[in-house]
Amino acid sequence: MRFAICMITVLLMALASAAGCVRVPPATLERAPERSLRPLAASPVPRALVRLRRASMHAAQAADAPAFEYAYRAPVSPELQPIFVRVRDIDLLRALPEVQAIDGMFMLPRPLRYVTAECGEFGAFYRPGEGEVVLCYETLRTLYERGQALQRRFALADDYPLRYTRANLRFIVMHETGHALVHLLDLPVTGRQEDAVDQLAAILMLRFADVAETPAEVIDNLRMAANWMLSDSTGAYNLDAYADEHALGEQRYFNLQCLIYSTDPPAFAGMVAAGDLTAARAAGCEREMRQAARAWLRLLLPSLAPGYEAYEEEAARYLGVPGA
Ligand SMILES: [Zn+2]
Repeated sequence: MRFAICMITVLLMALASAAGCVRVPPATLERAPERSLRPLAASPVPRALVRLRRASMHAAQAADAPAFEYAYRAPVSPELQPIFVRVRDIDLLRALPEVQAIDGMFMLPRPLRYVTAECGEFGAFYRPGEGEVVLCYETLRTLYERGQALQRRFALADDYPLRYTRANLRFIVMHETGHALVHLLDLPVTGRQEDAVDQLAAILMLRFADVAETPAEVIDNLRMAANWMLSDSTGAYNLDAYADEHALGEQRYFNLQCLIYSTDPPAFAGMVAAGDLTAARAAGCEREMRQAARAWLRLLLPSLAPGYEAYEEEAARYLGVPGA
């Protein structure tokens, strides 16, 4: 998968030139989480991070498990053309490790299609009628711009905007994949579906990171995804914000921080000391993560495709451990 990482870097280099003419309004950075950025260079290595064991998984993939489909739709706007061309040429969607890891893993009633397209605004979404996860070209551009703004503000490394974009697009695509799985597999969700699929996105990024990525890099990816949650933060909300199906950005940020912390509380004790997580919330993070992971495992296991029995055995061990 080193090839994939390299290709994504090439894509993002293209974004750098495509996005260079647009500036992020200063207001969007007013409450940028400085503390969440500072540890990026040396995140602790979490002891509990589960790494992938997927040797020979795909060799046994069943013919009747529908594989994902991928499409790159040409934009109308000329300024998005370079992004489209690069995304298509490097086959970006097939270069996302988490997408590839779960391609063919579930007995979906119909194929799930991943699409890049012009949307007219920043965003990504799941279209139930079409069975499509759509990633907007505008999203790639905006993520890169925010990465650039953060790089300038905090004098971060040259490759920061690329890493920031890549980490966030992976989280966003996994979040939308969660919506797709809930719909296609008719999974029960009580409470806010947006929170549930945020949890799934984090779990998948911890579990199916690229084999070439270190655990510290995986955690950094999640920290950058958490950072994005604060991109529209103003600290002042109206009824529309409170009524929204998504939790407030700050709440989604702390939910992710809690999941990160849960991977190794002693190693991440500094998050509490730095104020990136309250002590009261931190105390329950391991329990929260266990609960979320167990719930998603129970929901997804019945839909595993033949050839993925190793995951079933691993999950059964995890679910069978009292308190795990
Ligand atoms: Zn959503």
